[in-house]
Amino acid sequence: MEKIEVLIKNLEKRKIPARYFETKEAAAKAILEEISPEETVTIGGSMTIKDMNLYEDLKNAGNKVLWHWMVAPEERKALLKEAAFTDVFLSSTNAITEGGELVNIDGVGNRVSGMYFGHKKVIVVCGINKICTDVISAMDRVKQSACPQNAKRMNLKTPCAITNECNDCLSAERMCNITTIISHKPMSTELKVYIVGEALGF
Ligand code: SF4
Repeated sequence: MEKIEVLIKNLEKRKIPARYFETKEAAAKAILEEISPEETVTIGGSMTIKDMNLYEDLKNAGNKVLWHWMVAPEERKALLKEAAFTDVFLSSTNAITEGGELVNIDGVGNRVSGMYFGHKKVIVVCGINKICTDVISAMDRVKQSACPQNAKRMNLKTPCAITNECNDCLSAERMCNITTIISHKPMSTELKVYIVGEALGF
């Protein structure tokens, strides 16, 4: 718990408010309470947000929710365009350092860019399994854990999908194309981090 308290303090030093929840259900309840039904919401590609059932719960609350995972491939491009500028963006992070830096790798770039531009309010949910000592270990976590599991989930023809290890490939289907480190509150975005005391996502 001491580690979480230090992480929350370090995020707040970076002007990123943070809260801790014991369970994903408690975090989901808090998120639902702070999004009003008239706000439009985008969800970034995230197993954490999927496991929290927020897409269904927000729709049931009357929100317009845009999530490219929920539409046919031919509709994705148009949806991503509209989804880039909604009121609220919900995502997880691939890793977070104990010092409060958010480390992410993305293929298209919509998930990482949504964290810092285009939305008034961004809530990033992070399971305790994603807390890493520093940026180097966060990068290692993303490459050796998140990417291979995502490559498998998406049936990509990449070395990591077969060996579970990154060899910094240049495959046609490589999905590690954009790396971001958020080290302070983005100038035009209200970014918050909700840490959950459970293992969530990859
Ligand atoms: S660089 Fe290639 S092998 Fe490494 S994680 Fe990305 S897709 Fe997999």
